[in-house]
Amino acid sequence: MRVPLVDLTAQFQPIKGEVMRAIEEVLDSMQLFLGPNTRAFEEEFAAYCGTRSCVTVGNGTDALHLALRAAGVGAGDEVITVAHTFFATTEAIVMAGATPVYVDIDPNTYLMDVSQVEARVTSRTKAIMPVHLYGQMADMDAIGEIARRHELVVVEDAAEAHGAEYHGRRAGAIGQLGCFSFYFSKNLGAYGESGAVVTSDAELARRLRLYRDHGSEQRYQHLELGFNARMDEIQAAVLRIKLRHLDAWNAQRRERAAAYARLLADAGLGLPVTAPGRTHVWYVYVIRSPERDALQKVLADREIGTGVHFPVPIHLQPATRQLGHRAGDLPHTERAAHEVLSIPMYPELSTEQQAWIAAAIHTFSAG
Ligand SMILES: *Cc1c(COP(=O)(O)O)cnc(C)c1O
Repeated sequence: MRVPLVDLTAQFQPIKGEVMRAIEEVLDSMQLFLGPNTRAFEEEFAAYCGTRSCVTVGNGTDALHLALRAAGVGAGDEVITVAHTFFATTEAIVMAGATPVYVDIDPNTYLMDVSQVEARVTSRTKAIMPVHLYGQMADMDAIGEIARRHELVVVEDAAEAHGAEYHGRRAGAIGQLGCFSFYFSKNLGAYGESGAVVTSDAELARRLRLYRDHGSEQRYQHLELGFNARMDEIQAAVLRIKLRHLDAWNAQRRERAAAYARLLADAGLGLPVTAPGRTHVWYVYVIRSPERDALQKVLADREIGTGVHFPVPIHLQPATRQLGHRAGDLPHTERAAHEVLSIPMYPELSTEQQAWIAAAIHTFSAG
């Protein structure tokens, strides 16, 4: 039985008519940027997250980069973050002109080990950028407390956590700024590049609107140097439709995760851990094994799609050489890179598919 890692066709089919009509309407109107769909989606997504504003941008990397700039992070500043994440988290910090400073992860949740943060605060530290990895939010109370003590800005990388909650509050709404990607495979994914920043601070929202559109509020009047970082109307129209399904899709992901937990309880692998007070939205379902590569091969032989999020920690990438890190600097991060394996997770995943995957994993564990 062939089971892909994600199945976007299964999600598209039931909404196809509605999506095609919405795209046609955008093209009939020929209002392709910053039009009625963008305005409506921004209102709807802000309401969904529980913030006063949402500013859509070109992609998740733009969201992180422009959020840092809006918060005044720039040359000479340091941003405390993690190295077990997608590369864009660090890229955005460097694009803003700042330096990423890494803390290790908690080996159980793969999230920022908050107990290490305060020791890394210096006179140059300007922001903390936690990553809500795999669909689970970082420990925002502890992070907020450190940020208040040292007057730091908290910019959430919520690119993998649309709809995730921390003690009832949604991802993106706890820090001063929350950054989302709508990359096609994310829990809320468009059919092209797009992203957004949510905030309840009107001045930050104003600056974000400037930065995404060449520093301009009025055509051909440029108040500041900005960027070309707008989302387009087709993506906004698609996202408006998909947003109405997000809670149901996330609930289905939670059911699939609960099924995996039952099916794999005695498979001798590391299973995901949900920390107290969190509502996990299971962007990916990550198991771990010291024999990860062999397990991945056994699953591939049975046409089961897997992924590794992420195989090379950011502090050991060729591109971050100048930060001067060495193997051993972030032991939990480095071990996770060798052991984690993402197995198929999407709302439409069937009981039969999950049973087939679990059987394959048990065969590996027994062999
Ligand atoms: C996807 C992702 C991003 C980047 O989003 P893009 O839309 O691809 O630019 C940033 N951070 C994390 C944690 C991500 O998973």
